[in-house]
Amino acid sequence: MSKENPYYRNIVLKSPREVVYLEYTPSLLPPKPAADPDGTRWTRFVCVSDTHSRAFSVPDGDVLLHSGDLTNTGTVSDFEKTMQWLYGLPHPVKIIIAGNHDLTLHTEWYEREYERFHWNVGKQDIKPIMEMLKGARAQKAGIVYLEDEKYEFKVHENGKLWSVFGSPWSPEFFNWAFNYERETAEELVSKFPKTDILLTHGPAHQIFDRTNHDDLPGCQTLRARLSELRPRLHVAGHIHEAHGAHVHVWDPADDFAPPIIQNDDIVGSTNVDEPISVEVGGDVGLERTVFVNAANWPMGALARRDGVRPVFGGPGFQAVVVDLKE
Ligand SMILES: [Zn+2]
Repeated sequence: MSKENPYYRNIVLKSPREVVYLEYTPSLLPPKPAADPDGTRWTRFVCVSDTHSRAFSVPDGDVLLHSGDLTNTGTVSDFEKTMQWLYGLPHPVKIIIAGNHDLTLHTEWYEREYERFHWNVGKQDIKPIMEMLKGARAQKAGIVYLEDEKYEFKVHENGKLWSVFGSPWSPEFFNWAFNYERETAEELVSKFPKTDILLTHGPAHQIFDRTNHDDLPGCQTLRARLSELRPRLHVAGHIHEAHGAHVHVWDPADDFAPPIIQNDDIVGSTNVDEPISVEVGGDVGLERTVFVNAANWPMGALARRDGVRPVFGGPGFQAVVVDLKE
């Protein structure tokens, strides 16, 4: 048996300006496409989420995107584990957001609620945590922590200026951090600006949000807003069992309707010997969005393959690699 887990499938989604590796044997992952003769280059994004203080290997790339739930409950020691891992990764730019588990980062809520969660470890000090996220060590490692903020960066000199907006919120769920009432979602989501990349902790309704209980708790308001924002890439997580990726072509004749897509639409059978390669058609000029639920915590049907021991970032739950043409 080879050293690598034999249960990696081969799932690739391709369109003229996007290539997505949903599942791959790490040692066989192709490099990003070469530049065009006119010099137009590609940027490789490596998407992770819901890593909850676990460390695992992810492919190299230009940009690491983390969609929140960096930790279990946001203690100082949780953050130490997560940040040591992130500092050690090779990506020159690492854009990260919080999720409902990163309790301490929602400072105002934490003041009120910390005893429910941290009665045994005591109230955690936000100062060393912010130092880990924004201090000199973080800056040296290329970490950019976004909390309802926009950030712009270039990967290549004279290349595209990428814009990204990151938001840690998700709809109400047993009063955890960064939760919003569904009725007040509009107030929050209407402030999301138009950017190339959108990072949210929670997924949109009906886009990789199906739970083990067949609920679809993704945000309806975010779903409607996506028709207006149409980013090149939207990365979320939160619903671990809904890990997946899809390239959507926006059709103006259909009022820019968002997709209805869950991971079993893509992965289909559990026959691991069958590679899946999806060519996404459509006019080169049409706008497309790569939708990713990047959760790396193995849960649900994808985690129950024959012979596969579920591991963080392992078969079915790898970092999703997204190459975008600049
Ligand atoms: Zn979450």
